[in-house]
Amino acid sequence: MKSGKTQIFAGLVKCADCGWPMSYAERRYKTCSTGFFNCSQFRKLGKVGGRCSAHYIKYDTLYAYVLARLQDWIYQAHTDEKELLNRLLKTSDREAAKAHKKQSAKLAKAEKRKAEVDRLFVKLYEDV
Ligand SMILES: [Zn+2]
Repeated sequence: MKSGKTQIFAGLVKCADCGWPMSYAERRYKTCSTGFFNCSQFRKLGKVGGRCSAHYIKYDTLYAYVLARLQDWIYQAHTDEKELLNRLLKTSDREAAKAHKKQSAKLAKAEKRKAEVDRLFVKLYEDV
């Protein structure tokens, strides 16, 4: 960052709705400053040009959540490592399936658009 500080979540936080990176910023009020992440698509393109909304999470909230998850996993690794591995693998499979579904929808949309463009090309040549 400009201040020389290193953001520990740099490049790791993505918007759940649009997949764009969440970018970090600080808001100052008197002597206090609050760090937060918000959707970079919304920040860059705004309400009109963008396809996302003002998703926002405070740095402190994210930090506390990630820390709690890590502490929970460490505790489980000590008590039942196999169960923890099963849980993490299940989550990973679910996320992969969700990403595959999203990609398939994008592909179907792109193929539909390609067919439409091909049809327009044919029509253009027929008209000339
Ligand atoms: Zn977004």
